[in-house]
Amino acid sequence: MGESTSMATRIKMKIDLQCGACSALTHQTEPPQRFCPCCGAAFDRFCIKCRKKVDMYFEEWWPEDDECLRTYSPAKKCPSCNSGLEVEKTAKKQEDDDEFAH
Ligand SMILES: [Zn+2]
Ligand SMILES: [Zn+2]
Repeated sequence: MGESTSMATRIKMKIDLQCGACSALTHQTEPPQRFCPCCGAAFDRFCIKCRKKVDMYFEEWWPEDDECLRTYSPAKKCPSCNSGLEVEKTAKKQEDDDEFAH
């Protein structure tokens, strides 16, 4: 029997944005925000080599059959020239190996 029930299933779509600088997760608003509300870093990335805007990539996760969680993160590499897109940040994490510890 051919079931012609299109649009019958409602999919709950949740979209989060993950900041590339501070890793904070933000629920996407309408219209989508462009800056991280935690640290102010831009979600958009531009390649310094070829100067193209690099789109965010997303990962999908389906906790239920009708529930989709999508997390967008800023791209870490330019898909065109493959150069790294890490933002210059002076936020130095405490290194585990301390040269002066003895
Ligand atoms: Zn942030
Ligand atoms: Zn590039």
